[in-house]
Amino acid sequence: MTPNDKTNIILTGVPASPGVAIGKVFLFEDDELVLIEKTIPKNKIKDEITRLNQAIVKTKAELQENQVELNKMLGKSYAKIADAHVLILNDPMLNKDAVALINEGNSAEFAIYKVTEKITKAFDLIDDEYFRERKHDIVDVAKKLMRHLQGKQKKTLADLDSESIVVSKNLTPSDTVSMREVMVRGFATDTGGKTSHTALVAQSLEIPAVVGLKNITSQVSHGMSIIVDGNQGIVILNPSKETQENYKREHDIQAATQKNLEKLKDLPATTIDGKEVVLGANIENPEEVRSVLKHGANGIGLYRSEFMYLTRKTLPTEEEHFSNYSKVAKMMMPYEVIIRTIDLGGDKISKLGLMNIGQEANPFMGLRAIRLCLKYPDLFKTQLKGILRASVNGNVKIMYPMISQIEEIRQANDILNQAKIELRKEGKKFDENIQIGAMIEVPSVAVVADIIAKEVDFMSIGTNDLIQYTMAVDRVNEDVAFLYDPLHPAILRLLKTIIDAGHNAGKSVGMCGEMAGSPEFSIALLGLGLDEFSMSAIQIPKIKNVIRSVSMKDAKNLANELLKCSDRAAISGVIKKFKYR
Ligand code: PEP
Ligand code: MG
Repeated sequence: MTPNDKTNIILTGVPASPGVAIGKVFLFEDDELVLIEKTIPKNKIKDEITRLNQAIVKTKAELQENQVELNKMLGKSYAKIADAHVLILNDPMLNKDAVALINEGNSAEFAIYKVTEKITKAFDLIDDEYFRERKHDIVDVAKKLMRHLQGKQKKTLADLDSESIVVSKNLTPSDTVSMREVMVRGFATDTGGKTSHTALVAQSLEIPAVVGLKNITSQVSHGMSIIVDGNQGIVILNPSKETQENYKREHDIQAATQKNLEKLKDLPATTIDGKEVVLGANIENPEEVRSVLKHGANGIGLYRSEFMYLTRKTLPTEEEHFSNYSKVAKMMMPYEVIIRTIDLGGDKISKLGLMNIGQEANPFMGLRAIRLCLKYPDLFKTQLKGILRASVNGNVKIMYPMISQIEEIRQANDILNQAKIELRKEGKKFDENIQIGAMIEVPSVAVVADIIAKEVDFMSIGTNDLIQYTMAVDRVNEDVAFLYDPLHPAILRLLKTIIDAGHNAGKSVGMCGEMAGSPEFSIALLGLGLDEFSMSAIQIPKIKNVIRSVSMKDAKNLANELLKCSDRAAISGVIKKFKYR
């Protein structure tokens, strides 16, 4: 019996996007460089060398094709990258050494692995950083060569069909965004945490997803039957007929519950004793607004504008910014649209080749978000001018991400003022009193939220990063996902500090991190005094249902009890008592 004959193989990961998807595996693999030890009998050595040469020819053809593509998209200077890759393949050392290893009775795969290892070790000794880093190009070429040797086809997301469930080691946010254009039922990955941007995009697309499965890619084959249960965070391989039937039934029940909740769409998010909060949606793209309105959002609490940069190879123009934001602002009228300025970096890597993005050792602590914008003031100003102009088309606000010190807000405002001066000169209209907010997602500003509150018109708490930075838990690393705890006493105290600081300064405090869209935290957040909850649109009806079923008095009691707890057991006890009171 092969692993593929076994039924109902259950794998456990991290639930990333709710819902259940049943379909067939689409294995979306990265090229890999792995050591395959295999001896070749003497009489097959010639065939093995021929196999290597054929793979080299195929790899060259692929590289030349890439070169043409790059030339079209980016111009000649970028196409030189592919040029350099072809040169690597023509390198006599690579060929000579590989053939020598095959002549000793090794497989072509073994030979390529060993030769690449030798060349990269030699590169490690080079002083000049630029040349040293070229070793990555050699590894890239070797991986392609390895794929051709193994006769594997490179699959692209364009090959997906309507039954596909994408299984991959990792998916970048831009891979996930590309799924918008193609049919995909769900996805499952080896790596990733609940608040990785890939997971967040899956929620926006309303695609069930499980991440952090560790080794699913080595357990599946293309076309295998699979169920992705994004509610429980499990995946079932080769599900039996009975399991499939059970899941179909479960799916129908959930769809009916969601439909029922959608009936709350036009009702306010008001507690039973009359406190109303704003429920906004997080979006990455103007196309999502229809779904946002369908789910009954009262605004866009977070427009992740950087997604415009992820799938393209040229910088968006001021006109493109203006047009995108205007579309959203008009459709959302009279509700507010909070446009977060570019938050590139971290796990959101653009293909624009900005600075060292993509090569930093600690990208989440690197040149990300506002830091990148202040480093590239023209790039930032172009976006700000687009936002300012869109402000005449609706209720638009600006929000700066990853603020870690007050000076960043002031520097950003200086660039905003320059943008305003230029627009006035150009005779272009904008809202002179546009509101400016700061994301509170770095502990340094959470602690001094009272100072920040005086500098801005509003604050929005980004718990995805605030928890990551406070608890030193990489939000995309499945091995530490269990430490990512929104109810940790440190987090609760920080939330209280931020909300109280905002209110003392007469400013509204919202939350646009995942915590705001998780029903299990809604009552505590309400009790802490949060004014606005912003989340994936699909979560809005669930959160509204919770808010409408509780009194502010009870919510405050719960928050106060939680703030007294010193460990998880005490916290669970308080929550249990509240549930069954
Ligand atoms: C956050 O950090 O909580 C947030 C909303 O921003 P992002 O998830 O895009 O980093
Ligand atoms: Mg963030």
